[in-house]
Amino acid sequence: MKHPSYIFVVGGVISGVGKGITSSSIAKILQDRGVRVTALKIDPYVNVDAGTMNPTEHGEVFVLDDGYETDQDMGNYERFLNTSLSSRNYMTTGRVYQAVIANERALKYKGACVQVVPHVPLEVVARIEAAQREANAEVTVIEIGGTIGEYENILFLEAARMMKLRDPDHVAFVMVSYLPTPGSLGEMKTKPTQHSVRTLNASGIQPDIVIARSTLALDEKRKQKISYFCNVSEDHVIAAPDIKSIYDVPLNFERENLSDKLGKILHVKLGAKNGGTKQWVQFTNKIKNAKDTVKIAMVGKYFETGAFVLSDAYLSVIEAVKYSACAYGKRAEIEWVNAGEFEKPARPRGASGAGGNPASVARLLRYDGIIVPGGFGSRGVEGKIAAIRFAREKKIPYFGLCYGMQLAVIEFARHAAGMPSATTRENNPKSDCCIIDIMETQREKMDKQDFGGTMRLGTYPCTLMRGTIAQGAYRKSTIHERHRHRYEVNPKFISQLEVAGLIFSGKSPDGTLMEIAELPKSEHPFFLGTQFHPEFLARPLQPHPLFTEFIKAAIAHAKAKRKK
Ligand code: GLN
Repeated sequence: MKHPSYIFVVGGVISGVGKGITSSSIAKILQDRGVRVTALKIDPYVNVDAGTMNPTEHGEVFVLDDGYETDQDMGNYERFLNTSLSSRNYMTTGRVYQAVIANERALKYKGACVQVVPHVPLEVVARIEAAQREANAEVTVIEIGGTIGEYENILFLEAARMMKLRDPDHVAFVMVSYLPTPGSLGEMKTKPTQHSVRTLNASGIQPDIVIARSTLALDEKRKQKISYFCNVSEDHVIAAPDIKSIYDVPLNFERENLSDKLGKILHVKLGAKNGGTKQWVQFTNKIKNAKDTVKIAMVGKYFETGAFVLSDAYLSVIEAVKYSACAYGKRAEIEWVNAGEFEKPARPRGASGAGGNPASVARLLRYDGIIVPGGFGSRGVEGKIAAIRFAREKKIPYFGLCYGMQLAVIEFARHAAGMPSATTRENNPKSDCCIIDIMETQREKMDKQDFGGTMRLGTYPCTLMRGTIAQGAYRKSTIHERHRHRYEVNPKFISQLEVAGLIFSGKSPDGTLMEIAELPKSEHPFFLGTQFHPEFLARPLQPHPLFTEFIKAAIAHAKAKRKK
């Protein structure tokens, strides 16, 4: 076994400047040089996992194979490294404290007084090492969430410092900093970076590399300044200007020979440098240069936060669409459609007649394909159902993900299978026409208000029916996909739905859970929903077969529209 090395990635000045992409890219450039890598994310929240967080605040909840609900950065790691990670690769303050307290209750500290320092950082170190061992990684990249100077991440920095002290030749620190260019000055400023490095120094940590994020590339003078004042050699200051595609970041890093520099700092022997793997370079060129577009509407509810549209809540879906469009040499143009728009405003009390005018679903005609992604609760549901109905009746390719599948089944039940009151138990607990019902295993948990990490989570097998769209796309009879839901298609109504023409083309191997619903190709070019989340397994170099099939149908639909 080669000596394990660790790279800690920390952020300075402001958050949101690409620490996750930096960490993914660092791991990737080392992987491209033949090094066995793994990547970890540390989030300073007290939440035990990301599953209980609202996506408008925190972005997408990314689910791993083993069912752990994590931060969206884990998705970036998996996509850049083309690998699957486990719960060992993610931790939060809540998770760490939970483990320390459980150990204390189990007398694991043998009667010692258990203290915040050193016991908490030691638990962090143990977890980092466990992830390294599980992946048998030569280099482990660890992203510490938050920004330097925040109270929340101090214990994690303490853990990193302890690891450096123990093994100074095999631990490196990368600081991702931001250099603002105030409009009034027109000059890029290094001072905030200098202050951040000093603050990091106060935790006993000196960065080896500074990644200088800025709108334009850093010039020599600024590199020198950062070098002098931050105590980092000039060639360890790496320019990271804004670029069009995140997938170019590893290639940009390599223009500054970052893998060689890290290899030297960590005493890691690297394989030949081939300018990024050929396939990756091809992919990045294709994704940047595609001119022809395929227009996709995402109909959902988590889009608005104040005056901003927050697409982060659906990050993996967006990327999955992009990869599949790219596979056909197209650029995905994704537009956000607020489902609420299609709902009739509530009728004022005492008023007669219909309520106000909802936006017409006919605006969906301009898209080549429609997606309803995952979701929870009743807001926007009737609008989503209206959009799905329109897609079905107008034969616009439709792809439903999790909630998007459940709502498609409800829509079909209401308007094509003679069950006008069809609904989901999630929104109508008392209804006697719950086409979508709570899973038996979930009922008790809900009653006990045991919400954290208790949904049907992670990877489950699914058997495909021959001759269906799903089976044609996967070209397999059994698949494995990641789940995150509490409700399922109610077995009581399955035969009624089937008789009306809906096909359950994917089922759990014992045949009890409906995992994919679709309409036959003779009825509709692509009307399909999955109870699982295929977006979590889409990778740049391995687009997801269902997304690719959907995009194919969308492209064909666009062509047919043009001919009309
Ligand atoms: N709310 C639905 C359920 O819990 C769907 C969940 C989802 O879309 N992830 O079953």
